[in-house]
Amino acid sequence: MKASQFSISTIKETPSDAEIVSHQLLIKGGFIKKLASGIYSWMPMGLRVLRKIEQIVRDEMDRSGAQELLMPVSQPGELWEESGRWQLYDEGLLLKFKDRHDRDFCFGPTHEEVITDIARTELRSHKQLPVNYYQIQTKFRDETRPRFGVLRAREFIMKDAYSFHNSLDCLQSTFEQMHATYTQILTRMQLEFRAVDADSGSIGGSGSIEFHVLADSGEDLIAFSADGSYAANIELAEALAPEANDTPMKALTKVETPNQKTISAVVSFLDVPVETTIKTLIVEGSQTPLVALVLRGDHTLNTLKAEKLPEVRQPLTLAAEADIQSTIGCAPGSIGPAGLNNCPIVVDRSAGVLYNFVCGANEDGFHFTNVNWHRDTPDIVIADIRNVVSGDPSPNGNGALDIRKGIEVGHIFQLGNKYSAPMKATVLDAEGKAQTMVMGCYGIGVSRLVGAAIEQNHDDKGIVWPASIAPFQVVVIPINAHKSPNVERVSLELYEQLEAAGIEVLLDDREQLRPGVKFAEAELIGYPHRIVVGDRTLANNEVEYTERRTLEGANWPISEVTTRLLSALGKAQ
Ligand code: ATP
Ligand code: MG
Repeated sequence: MKASQFSISTIKETPSDAEIVSHQLLIKGGFIKKLASGIYSWMPMGLRVLRKIEQIVRDEMDRSGAQELLMPVSQPGELWEESGRWQLYDEGLLLKFKDRHDRDFCFGPTHEEVITDIARTELRSHKQLPVNYYQIQTKFRDETRPRFGVLRAREFIMKDAYSFHNSLDCLQSTFEQMHATYTQILTRMQLEFRAVDADSGSIGGSGSIEFHVLADSGEDLIAFSADGSYAANIELAEALAPEANDTPMKALTKVETPNQKTISAVVSFLDVPVETTIKTLIVEGSQTPLVALVLRGDHTLNTLKAEKLPEVRQPLTLAAEADIQSTIGCAPGSIGPAGLNNCPIVVDRSAGVLYNFVCGANEDGFHFTNVNWHRDTPDIVIADIRNVVSGDPSPNGNGALDIRKGIEVGHIFQLGNKYSAPMKATVLDAEGKAQTMVMGCYGIGVSRLVGAAIEQNHDDKGIVWPASIAPFQVVVIPINAHKSPNVERVSLELYEQLEAAGIEVLLDDREQLRPGVKFAEAELIGYPHRIVVGDRTLANNEVEYTERRTLEGANWPISEVTTRLLSALGKAQ
């Protein structure tokens, strides 16, 4: 492609700092253009990247045996009434509208309802199963946080697949196949990622794995063992249960701690290690007005785990201070399990193995030291209710957990009969009886992947595309070609040679731009390889090569440019 015939629309002004870096670079590099909050046009440069990702996804889905179809963006409200999600789908995300006959519709945020409707009419016999349908299509979700650009857009492109089965075993095998397919897609995209155990969330069902691209700006925390044998979203991640030891118990002592209301204040006031303190949170209960949740002083509560406790009311709500005062008789900063008789006490496993610990004395301005479970406290329930921290032992016994930030780019679910049962999607089994189909669904954020790839691959000059998804693999920049026929001829020859070798190359033949501007723009846009053709190096029959990732340059003989680029791109000749 010649730059003079291709629209490159970089902009000079830097977009707002409040926005995430991939968004700033996509806007500045002219890949996307904002139409409205969370709604973007894909400009020619951006569309090339999007199409590359789509192609990798399509290729691997086809290879897995899935079949591509395309469903409508507009979906009738009646179908959503049937599944029970018209009122319930993640509050506010569903954009609803009416047609001229006053019928309810929505812009599809996902397609379980539509595909289940297709399957219940299309699939009649168990002999037609399993089948896995997929599409690459535009979704609309009325998201509230537009500062994330294409990472969390309102209108975005997803690959969503839905599989139908006559047994859970069959579902399990397609689920595993999709796991392998997603691994292959992200590997081909040259991204560093982790597949992690995840919560099934509002979509429901059982068995769910998320794929995260690792990036410091990620919204999710994921925990994994160094050898990769364990990986889970922090929402679910567990540590190996700690074991109690038999340290001798010391005598319980009540100490004055005037105005020491936080753990860190108590730790420095009493000069004790934070790991020997515990903190008590009072939340609303399901069977009793209040429930005490107890954690080691340096640990934090995992809301999702706590919400699953039968004692705790959903959604998890901290008790009002007035209720704490009237029931327990002190302010929230002085509560502790010793002598706490008026609410159930759930103790995290790590707090449950402490001896001679420090806790609030249920009296303003006092703490206990040398507290011991059983001797000094009423009955307790032990549960895992904390967030794991880096260094915790992995639950499978393989070393310690590391915690990194990730961007969720894909999610695979075993849905079971969550949609097929209410929507009566059945096939006839071998005996001719109607049997409800079992379903799986598999999403990957095609447009989110563009942003995630940049979050993982950029520097202070701009984007550093992995070659597999770069808009062009090579840019050829002639210096002052309008003044030097030699430069013009060699650039054009190189360009044609590279194209003929199957390399995607952009010849930056725009005459009006100074070389310095073209270089900066090439770094911003992030072509993996750059060839500069100028009179100075041509005198030695050489051109100047620069690798985008390292910004390291070298002079290359003209005759070797194609071979060297082919080998850098991992392509055989
Ligand atoms: P998130 O937890 O990030 O809100 P989700 O769990 O709602 O996403 P799914 O319903 O599982 O997402 O959708 C499948 C995939 O679609 C996600 O893994 C993600 O890559 C992508 N996706 C979801 N919401 C958006 C969005 N608002 N913008 C861009 N991509 C999205
Ligand atoms: Mg999710």
